[in-house]
Amino acid sequence: MCAIVGVFDVKHASKIAYYALFAMQHRGQEATGISASDGKKIRTLKDNGLVTEVFNEDKLSFLQGDMAIGHNRYSTAGSDSVRDAQPVAASYKLGDISIVHNGNLINKHEVRSKLIEQGAIFQSSMDTENIIHLIARSQQGKLQDRIIEALHIIKGAYCLLIQSRTKMFAMRDRYGVRPLSIGRFKNGGYIVASETCALDLVDAEFVRDVRPGEMVIFHQGEKEFESIQLFEPDPHVCAFEFIYFARPDSVIEGKNVYAIRKKMGMKLAELAPVEADFVIPVPDSGVSAALGYAQASGIPFEMAIVRNHYVGRTFIEPTQAVRDLKVKLKLSPIHKILEGKKIVVIDDSIVRGTTSRQIVKLLKRAGAAEVHMRIASPTIEHPCLYGIDTPSYKELISANKNVEEVREYIEADSLAFLSIDALKESIGNDMNYSLVSFDGNYFIK
Ligand code: AMP
Repeated sequence: MCAIVGVFDVKHASKIAYYALFAMQHRGQEATGISASDGKKIRTLKDNGLVTEVFNEDKLSFLQGDMAIGHNRYSTAGSDSVRDAQPVAASYKLGDISIVHNGNLINKHEVRSKLIEQGAIFQSSMDTENIIHLIARSQQGKLQDRIIEALHIIKGAYCLLIQSRTKMFAMRDRYGVRPLSIGRFKNGGYIVASETCALDLVDAEFVRDVRPGEMVIFHQGEKEFESIQLFEPDPHVCAFEFIYFARPDSVIEGKNVYAIRKKMGMKLAELAPVEADFVIPVPDSGVSAALGYAQASGIPFEMAIVRNHYVGRTFIEPTQAVRDLKVKLKLSPIHKILEGKKIVVIDDSIVRGTTSRQIVKLLKRAGAAEVHMRIASPTIEHPCLYGIDTPSYKELISANKNVEEVREYIEADSLAFLSIDALKESIGNDMNYSLVSFDGNYFIK
């Protein structure tokens, strides 16, 4: 969850950051913010809302300078305060500093308790604020060394961008759980963003991904960036980025998300075939996999569920009652296609089971004779602690019910999931992935 962007050495950097955040709106819709530096001062604006709601020409004109960092915040239950929006900006001994973070620190409570004991005062509930305090309290002389010291204290999944008045630092944890890519502008200057779809929008040329465990430093007046390998890389790229989170046009670790989702659908067709009249995706999350399923099975593809794009994601409202209504607000079936037909419905994942249950109901009410659910990911049996907002064991339906019991709950005629092996084969067996949601292997101890 969350998107981050950094723009370096480009005229009116905040405008570029704005467009990059717009391209990555799918990674978080709760709050957004940008900090810009003009070499003398860092200015920050942030608020609850979408990128286009929070910013306008006036606000971007206020955010002057050739350097900017920005953030889109993903909503999690109970933390909708503007105080939890990013960037987090502060003034400390060496001057102004501003920071954005995508991921989740697993020792945040421990670190925070220690800092509070030492007299630190916190303004938000964000783990990102821990990092600012660690940097401010460090006895090291240079900002770079202070950051490195802080990185040796925090543990977890993180992509971080830190901006001083004249420098920008980009860091990715040694597991590379969340994506982070570097792009270059034709006329000079750089962009660092969570997803390559942001680079495409602002016409930046992809250079490479920030490596797991690497710190990349952009210095004012220098054409090339500096790289320091801080930690031994142990890549565990999040499989859920490929399943659901990232945009299909993005490329993570050289792998196009759309092509991989399609492969997942093809594998699903091999593993769990069914006789049906149509393959139907749950838009938008199931579209790429459904195309793969249709191609591999030879069953015609139909867009028989229409999505209303003006409703936010179903997870925005934290209460169960509202979540149920939101599925209906968002998705609507086309009766004419469905009447009397046997259909295979493809979605990317089942978390609580709310969406699938509602969809089966909608499709049956619209006249479908049989509804076969096929899910293009394995059963989610464990909460992710590394930055994807999956709920507790209690709420995860597959942590509590077997596939047949889930089928009964969602009232489908049949139900099947992708296997973990097929998921790995789809993304590519050339590297390790974070599969915690599926196998419970919490590799960050
Ligand atoms: P649920 O209704 O709880 O089973 O949620 C499943 C639906 O939510 C699927 O259609 C997914 O596309 C989507 N989804 C899966 N994981 C997440 C997540 N971490 N945040 C928001 N939506 C998600």
